[in-house]
Amino acid sequence: MNFNLTEEQHMLQDSLRRFLANEYGFDKRRDIVAGGQGVDKATWNAFAEMGLLGYTLPEEYDGLGGNGLDTMLVMENFGRALVVEPYLSTVVLGGSIISEAGSDEQKQRILPKIATGEEFLAFAHYEPSGRHNLDYVRTEIQTHGDDYILNGRKTAVFDAAGAHYLIVSGRRKGRPTEPVSLFLVNHDSSGVEIEEYTTHDGHRVADVILDSVMVSDDDRIGGRGQAMPIIEKGVDRAIAALCAEAVGAMEALNETTREYVQTRQQFGMPIGKFQVIQHKLADMFIATEQARSMAILAASESDSDDRDQRRRAVSMAKALVGQSARFVGQTAVQLHGGMGVTDEMFAAHLFKRLTLINLQFGDADYHLGQVSDGMLKSA
Ligand SMILES: Cc1cc2nc3c(=O)[nH]c(=O)nc-3n(C[C@H](O)[C@H](O)[C@H](O)COP(=O)(O)OP(=O)(O)OC[C@H]3O[C@@H](n4cnc5c(N)ncnc54)[C@H](O)[C@@H]3O)c2cc1C
Repeated sequence: MNFNLTEEQHMLQDSLRRFLANEYGFDKRRDIVAGGQGVDKATWNAFAEMGLLGYTLPEEYDGLGGNGLDTMLVMENFGRALVVEPYLSTVVLGGSIISEAGSDEQKQRILPKIATGEEFLAFAHYEPSGRHNLDYVRTEIQTHGDDYILNGRKTAVFDAAGAHYLIVSGRRKGRPTEPVSLFLVNHDSSGVEIEEYTTHDGHRVADVILDSVMVSDDDRIGGRGQAMPIIEKGVDRAIAALCAEAVGAMEALNETTREYVQTRQQFGMPIGKFQVIQHKLADMFIATEQARSMAILAASESDSDDRDQRRRAVSMAKALVGQSARFVGQTAVQLHGGMGVTDEMFAAHLFKRLTLINLQFGDADYHLGQVSDGMLKSA
């Protein structure tokens, strides 16, 4: 496989890096996080103008038809700058679910507005006590003539408060044996309550309570009871994107740590002159490159319809990236000394984001278990 960037990808990467370096510095990011909205409208509009918001959406709905490797390019750069805007929720996860399984009317209504930055999506799937298990859905669907009534509680839904539509999963009567269906729920529908909070790494999440929320059959995404493959593919794309984001954050952490040890004086010289410190930097670099290789594998498999192969690649990547991220993060904090945990240092925020990426959509241990289960099944 050719891993070199095409001319268009090079141009996009250059303009994105320039934009983030000039317009999305550490102080700007802190202001956005402190603002409590989880998005800076001017930044989001700039992403739209650069073509990032429609980059991976289908061409017939004002997108550019990009693939998982294009998503990787964007997310790696977002990881370097610690972008908090809801690209993963709206474009990668929401956009790919609607593109893959939405009706023509849903695609026509929503995708062009994602591309122009006018509308946001959130994926309301995980529930309390479900851990990382995708199949744990207790939200109840009752039929009501041609309509449905949803009751349930979704937990830690990323970017829910600002989303125009929630993509909500549920089962008939909430029974674990019933197949899962997926619905588009308008954020201001009667019975939708959103309890928002901030995570350690500055992202906006919410618990979403669904109390007799009425949805019509036109709001169903995909066939009745046939949502699990749609959810799995969307989540796999999101995991591949997160792996890329982690690689970018590790790169930035390596750079900022290298700068720190070159300036921090101890025993009359920069601590970076000591060989033991140089060995640690080399180990961090190697761990990042290993993570990058796995992130490329996940990105290149993330569009595949071969479920088992795709899931295996994505879980292998998430497990390795989680382990690498922890090693790089902890080593960077140690090399920074006490400064590494202070709010003033960019490194501390990169470390927090890497820690949370490891937990999102299943941590390293969970995905290692998924890989070993898959191997046992196919043995
Ligand atoms: C918010 C905060 C709270 C703190 N609380 C406490 C506390 O409760 N108790 C306490 O005792 N201290 C505390 N400290 C101080 C902290 O323990 C020190 O920061 C720590 O000892 C590291 O020293 P340093 O920051 O000067 O790191 P640096 O001297 O800059 O060293 C950075 C890293 O390089 C390593 N290093 C340096 N020189 C060498 C060398 N020659 N060979 C190999 N490795 C080397 C160090 O081990 C460290 O990992 C606190 C600091 C902060 C910022």
